Amino acid sequence: SGRLTDREPLPGDEADRALRPQALDDFVGQPEARANLRVFVESARRRGEAMDHTLFHGPPGLGKTTLAQIVARELGVNFRMTSGPVLAKAGDLAAILTNLDARDVLFIDEIHRMSPVVEEILYPAMEDYALDLVIGEGPAARTVRIDLPPFTLVGATTRLGLLTTPLRDRFGIPVRLEFYSVADLVKIVDRAARLLNAPATPEGAQEIARRARGTPRIAGRLLRRVVDFAVVEGDGTVTQAIADRALTRLGVDDLGLDGGDRRYLRLLAEHYGGGPVGIETISAALSEARDALEEVIEPFLLQSGLIQRTPRGRMLAAKAWTHLGLAAPSPPES
Ligand code: ADP
Repeated sequence: SGRLTDREPLPGDEADRALRPQALDDFVGQPEARANLRVFVESARRRGEAMDHTLFHGPPGLGKTTLAQIVARELGVNFRMTSGPVLAKAGDLAAILTNLDARDVLFIDEIHRMSPVVEEILYPAMEDYALDLVIGEGPAARTVRIDLPPFTLVGATTRLGLLTTPLRDRFGIPVRLEFYSVADLVKIVDRAARLLNAPATPEGAQEIARRARGTPRIAGRLLRRVVDFAVVEGDGTVTQAIADRALTRLGVDDLGLDGGDRRYLRLLAEHYGGGPVGIETISAALSEARDALEEVIEPFLLQSGLIQRTPRGRMLAAKAWTHLGLAAPSPPES
């Protein structure tokens, strides 16, 4: 959809690459994940073995790809990257697997979108480091087993619930990534601003961090737009005033909500008296796919306490009425 606050990658984001932390020590936030990964990496290194297969799950833009790259770097092995939707045929995955060196990290993004035939190839590969290839057709067909080097599969998914149980069970190390605190995002913005040669004042970094929806990818993107304003309309320093002006002009409000979020909230307020409203109704009224609402818009509104999910549908919370500048309907007499 190309929204500034989209958690999915957008074309301009390649600029981020230089900003990606390269070592576990430079990776801000996710203390639990970081501490555990440090142990698993160190143990694999000392034993000279491939690290166990690892599954990163959580919303987009929280650092799953970044952590996978860091793990490969800290293990001192190659990093190979592909994604579920790209692997159309079993042969696509077989080709990648047979080209791995011992202990390499193979990263499969969006692993919940892998086709069943490709997934079948992955089971023996993960479990026994082997490929079962079918040669020939009909009665003459036979299976040949090919040994693979030991490797580490790192999977990433935004939808843990869509993974099949057999696939999920084959990951020894599941890691859940959480939304970042404002304090951690301040550190990320501050570091990125310095790398962009546009230093941020503490208040400037705070303003961007506060409006970044708990997501480093969004923080980086907002920062780059604010830097544009700082360069053209200021002296190149990211101050709170510049950040506030830039973000407001770009439609990112005080809570980090964008036009799409506000449209969702206003629909519930103005057409349904605050709900409850079923997700299908909301989807039809906004012409947005239900998946997109559930994956992209709602998690942050829920996390911010602006909406609630009830068995009868979505409801606006008091905070949303205040944010929209509307009076909540008075509760029914009991
Ligand atoms: P995901 O794979 O979860 O969608 P990425 O790993 O691609 O997320 O991260 C998105 C962007 O956010 C990247 O530009 C990355 O450099 C940045 N980023 C993510 N996590 C951190 C972090 N902990 N510290 C600094 N930058 C981060």
